[in-house]
Amino acid sequence: MADMSCEHIAAVTKMKHAKRHECEECVKINGVWVHLRTCQECGVTLCCDNSPNKHATKHARATTHPVIASAEPGERWLYCYPDDAFAEY
Ligand SMILES: [Zn+2]
Ligand SMILES: [Zn+2]
Ligand SMILES: [Zn+2]
Repeated sequence: MADMSCEHIAAVTKMKHAKRHECEECVKINGVWVHLRTCQECGVTLCCDNSPNKHATKHARATTHPVIASAEPGERWLYCYPDDAFAEY
């Protein structure tokens, strides 16, 4: 990581990438999403806060999994919820 913004981001040594380019929860409810994020704790790919269902944030709150990565092509960054920390890689 180029920027060790917090201990959670620093702990991500092996990036988890999206297995499928879709929100796993939106697919179940026929929802729509704007951008996708991949949880670095469990590898689930969910939608961002600009999406109506905000599944990535709900997942982080429900599980306390701290770090997500953008699953958008060309975006290379990590975000930590508890520290509100952001790092490019
Ligand atoms: Zn953190
Ligand atoms: Zn979703
Ligand atoms: Zn997770």
